[in-house]
Amino acid sequence: MQGSTDSAELWRLTWQHSPIGMALVGPEGHLLMVNRALSEMLGSSVEELSQRGFQELTHPEDLDTDLQLFERALAGEIDSYRLRKRYLHARGHVVWGDLSVALVRGQDGQPLHFISQILDVTEQQEHEERLRAAHAEIEREHQTLQTVFETVSVGLLLIGSDGRYERMNRRHRETMNLPFPDGHGGEAGQLGHVYFSDGKTLMGREDMPSYRAVQGEEFDDYSYWVGADPLTRRAFSTSARQVRGPTGERLGAALAYQDITDLMRAMKVQDEFVSSVSHELRTPLTSVLGHLEMLCEHDELPGAVMGQLRVVQRNALRLRSLLSDLLHVGEAREGSLKLLRSTVDLSLLAREAVEAARPNALEHGVHVEIDVPHRLDALVDEQRIRQVLDNLLSNAVKYSRPDDSVTVALCRGADAIELEVRDTGMGISEDEIELVFGRFFRGGEALEKHIPGTGLGLSIVSSIVTAHDGSVTLESQLGRGSTFRVTLPHPAG
Ligand code: ADP
Repeated sequence: MQGSTDSAELWRLTWQHSPIGMALVGPEGHLLMVNRALSEMLGSSVEELSQRGFQELTHPEDLDTDLQLFERALAGEIDSYRLRKRYLHARGHVVWGDLSVALVRGQDGQPLHFISQILDVTEQQEHEERLRAAHAEIEREHQTLQTVFETVSVGLLLIGSDGRYERMNRRHRETMNLPFPDGHGGEAGQLGHVYFSDGKTLMGREDMPSYRAVQGEEFDDYSYWVGADPLTRRAFSTSARQVRGPTGERLGAALAYQDITDLMRAMKVQDEFVSSVSHELRTPLTSVLGHLEMLCEHDELPGAVMGQLRVVQRNALRLRSLLSDLLHVGEAREGSLKLLRSTVDLSLLAREAVEAARPNALEHGVHVEIDVPHRLDALVDEQRIRQVLDNLLSNAVKYSRPDDSVTVALCRGADAIELEVRDTGMGISEDEIELVFGRFFRGGEALEKHIPGTGLGLSIVSSIVTAHDGSVTLESQLGRGSTFRVTLPHPAG
């Protein structure tokens, strides 16, 4: 460093090389001196800038504020000021500057000039604006979600991973009083007046929807009743989903509660109606069938009359079978399906069922095959298992096309018996597979092709198999065929 560099030179160098824009501004606003940083910031040369007043370089919307502060400094009200303002770049765009201004006065107190420092904060300003916009967007989103959360007609509940209730909407708050009239501690699994869908059995902790959700379960359409008073109690159908963070960690669970009281009551009325009508119809129908049988024994009746009587009898028998299906469904719903178990040879039962189905299959051009062991004994309700076989077989034939084949197979595993009814028929679409065991469900293909049915057959199969502690599953492909697999528990030995 030169020993002769005096302080004026040092000041000039500092001024020139300062990374912050600097200017000396006269009391009229003219730029008396500007440095390189400011010239680069505003896109004009040092010489061009030196000709101009700061007023020209300031964005019109920020000029008033700057001028007021400028005047107040000149008037002696303030010595300095700081302001974030917009400058106009030579190419017309805006440059945001963080301006600090100090007024220098002479010995006599007269204003000499202002020293201005301007830091280019355009990037920071843009960043802040983006941040503000993102924040406003998040806030708007939050408000929308909050409104939806509060106004939907479904009760919503969020539970933390520790089982504590974190949030619930108004709808859910309003219904909490029914199961928990003495208040709720805000923790999953609290016991209250919550009953299974039979409306009678109280629910234990492990079965409470909130508890199941906290254990990590996800489910849909879990229905139950809440409230001690049968007159005011309500039914809900609940779904649960796990809530996960960005890296998949479990944050808790979300539950949605749909009020299905009206639906459940309507279904009960429908059941009662169906059940009472079936009961009422059974007695006169038994009498009709009895008299028909007696009539048919009269050999002297003309052939034409006898033929007509047979038609009446066939239809009356069909009516009786429909009524017995309806009665069965009623019994199964009330949970009063009683089994009369005895040792039954299932192989024989299967053979008989196949023989009974054969004439109908022949009529449709469907081949029926059987693959059963010589003998397979099981402790089951003979009539009801016969019905399972009949229903599955008659469906397999009914939903097959000419030249399709139906197979009944039976085998005994270590501790279970497996009965399969397979067909190469029209099959069931994937979205209907879950539904076919429901009462009164009829598939799209069945309806489209006008294949007669009531939609009760498989629900009867399912209730009989369940009463035997077994299970029934279905694999099917539309256009390729179906396999119904019944598994009946059978103690080893
Ligand atoms: P239904 O036969 O009287 O309609 P079910 O309860 O027996 O009533 O069957 C319910 C529905 O399941 C049927 O309507 C039909 O769409 C479908 N389904 C049942 N069995 C078969 C089968 N073997 N192949 C194709 N679809 C079937």
